[in-house]
Amino acid sequence: MSDAMRYPLEPGPEQVRQMGEAVLAFAEEYLRDLPELPAFDPIGGEELAGALREPAPELGSPLPGLLSTLHAAARVGATSAGPGYLAYVPGGGLYAAALADFLAAVMNKYVSVWQLAPACAQIEATAVRWLCDLFGYPAQARGILTSGGSMANFSAIVTARNARLGESFLDGTVYVTGQTHASCAKAALLAGVPRAHVRAVPTGRDLAMDPAALERMIEEDRRAGLRPFLVIGSAGTTNTGAVDPLTELAAVAGRAGAWFHVDAAYGGPFQLTERGRARLRGIELADSITMDPHKALFLPYGIGALLVRDGALLRQAHHMDAAYLQDLSEEEEIPNFSEYSPELTRDFRGLRLWLPIKLHGLGAFRRALDEKLDLAELVYERLREQGFEVPWRPSLTAVAFRWAPGGGDSDGNGDGDGADADAFNAELLRRVTARGRALLSSTRIDGRYMIRVCVVSHRTHRDRVEQLLDIIGESCAELRAERAAAPDPGRTAGGAPGRA
Ligand SMILES: *Cc1c(COP(=O)(O)O)cnc(C)c1O
Repeated sequence: MSDAMRYPLEPGPEQVRQMGEAVLAFAEEYLRDLPELPAFDPIGGEELAGALREPAPELGSPLPGLLSTLHAAARVGATSAGPGYLAYVPGGGLYAAALADFLAAVMNKYVSVWQLAPACAQIEATAVRWLCDLFGYPAQARGILTSGGSMANFSAIVTARNARLGESFLDGTVYVTGQTHASCAKAALLAGVPRAHVRAVPTGRDLAMDPAALERMIEEDRRAGLRPFLVIGSAGTTNTGAVDPLTELAAVAGRAGAWFHVDAAYGGPFQLTERGRARLRGIELADSITMDPHKALFLPYGIGALLVRDGALLRQAHHMDAAYLQDLSEEEEIPNFSEYSPELTRDFRGLRLWLPIKLHGLGAFRRALDEKLDLAELVYERLREQGFEVPWRPSLTAVAFRWAPGGGDSDGNGDGDGADADAFNAELLRRVTARGRALLSSTRIDGRYMIRVCVVSHRTHRDRVEQLLDIIGESCAELRAERAAAPDPGRTAGGAPGRA
């Protein structure tokens, strides 16, 4: 019996090469086809999912067949690695990072405890340090790479709670806004903060937190015997990319003795650009920062980062002694990541950040992000020219808009009903999506239905954005013409077909 038959879990060199080549061929073909794949393919996804519900096989089957299954699976739903993915906050999926993931899995080094992999742990620590440098954090800053922004926000809140409140924390209060990402309130609840103690501070017309209102709320809570311990600012909200007045919030939090966390999951990487740095001014004052390399650093999904100005506080909140780790010495120069994070064993995720930055250089990322900022400006200008309501000039790359001439009477039937605009824009979004070249998403801001375009992917360039703008214009004109020809019979007031 050959080794390959006796130990099928250990392919020999020839098989390693063959399997690798099959996977590379898959990657090459997928990346080649990516621009032409529909941005969203709703057909057949559930059927395929149904066919994938099956018991585990006792015997294996050949790789090519399995790759065919994966090929089909990759084509249903959203093409989230493609240039037309402009919904939510897009990611990217750098090829270099995919290779890094492959290599990390092949080496399977144990990076959570530095002595077991000193150089690989250092590669990760170096990549984290680069992120700290981006925000001008001091030498004592520490950070962890998480699975995403939600987990980074969670560890930030636990650190703040531990540092500011100690073990008895049910009287602690947290300050966010209606525009703050839901993962922050969720993390606060998971960290044991009572739901009623997560306060929504009012925002101004720019959808950014009002620092004076924050100060008043903190003062009221303090007088009521509560302990305000955490202010969460946003550096790029998901809805519109709004950036809170970080310098002012840092000052208010500082006067109150509260921790200042900045959720820059989406906006953080724009710090690489001159415009981004200007818009994120004050972020360097934060006690902690969340940023997601799997958004605007274009990495594949599965990597967020938490940076903490005083690294000792991050460690204090997450450190735990364990007898079975006694042979491993204290950290010296290289951190034991397990002491800073809820996780012990995990993937070597630092490599997927380190390799692309070393390979391409930060300049390549900077230029790509500048391109996204330009594209968002283009979207803003063109939509306004076309007569759309685009209330917020993008501070980053998210643009929210709707068709609402005359304050919401989109179908031109003259009743000025806000519900008209909501229904009109929902149908507009459906038609734009049906064209298959771009996937957008929608949200509600101040009670109004808004369509969102968010340009983040490294693969989205001007040609795709121009195409999208044409499609939006055409779809809107088409819909207005239809509404004008056949006004909704449910509505009364003088239909004015001529208006549309
Ligand atoms: C995406 C996002 C999050 C959540 O991050 P995940 O990586 O999805 O867990 C948090 N805050 C903001 C502002 C985001 O855009």
